[in-house]
Amino acid sequence: MNAPDFSSQRERMVRWQIERRGISTPRVLAAFRSVPRHCFVRREDWPDAYEDRPLPIGLGQTISQPYIVALMTDLLRLQGGETVLEIGTGSGYQAAILAVLAGQVHSIERHELLAEHARQALEALELRNVTVHTTDGSAGWPEAAPYGGILVTAAAPAVPGPLLEQLAEGGRLVLPVGPSGYQVLQVWQREGGAWTHEEIIPVAFVPLRGQYGWKEE
Ligand code: SAM
Repeated sequence: MNAPDFSSQRERMVRWQIERRGISTPRVLAAFRSVPRHCFVRREDWPDAYEDRPLPIGLGQTISQPYIVALMTDLLRLQGGETVLEIGTGSGYQAAILAVLAGQVHSIERHELLAEHARQALEALELRNVTVHTTDGSAGWPEAAPYGGILVTAAAPAVPGPLLEQLAEGGRLVLPVGPSGYQVLQVWQREGGAWTHEEIIPVAFVPLRGQYGWKEE
């Protein structure tokens, strides 16, 4: 029996959840059309893989709502060829989207089990420009800095200073900041040795843990 390809569900997701909410960058839309999201969720969740909501991926973590993944990706304004850092690999779906849009992707996940599942999914799709590291990513990954873009997919108490330092000139950092129930998506840009920032929309993410994150409860 052939594996289902979900291409019509994926097209509906792009049109109705992403384009209709105002994301129009052709490269970003093409990336969401090309990456099979169901390959990053548990098999029992395949029927819901293209729904307009987050899904559980194990260990109390989630793959984010497609629109939020698209919005954060769009806010990075990638042109192609950049080295990009993601903190919070989770399922690996966001890393796969970044792999299509950037040159090299480093993605950090604190849970080895999630990191290993993500590596397998990325490998199966032959996305070889992503490296998944297992460690606390709250202080970034200085080994591959500077980055043209940094995405944090878990909510920090405040913007971690080392992430600002690891941005390349003109690079953008997109991250949710705040406690559970009161988070705002922020964008920071490095320009001429200084940083500017703006607030985008309220969001709801799992907490960033670790040195620059929230302490374990
Ligand atoms: N980007 C993911 C995707 O596409 O599926 C969704 C990420 S999920 C909302 C947030 C992830 O951040 C979780 O997998 C969690 O384990 C991870 N995380 C939280 N704190 C972290 C830290 N300090 N370093 C690395 N990963 C962290």
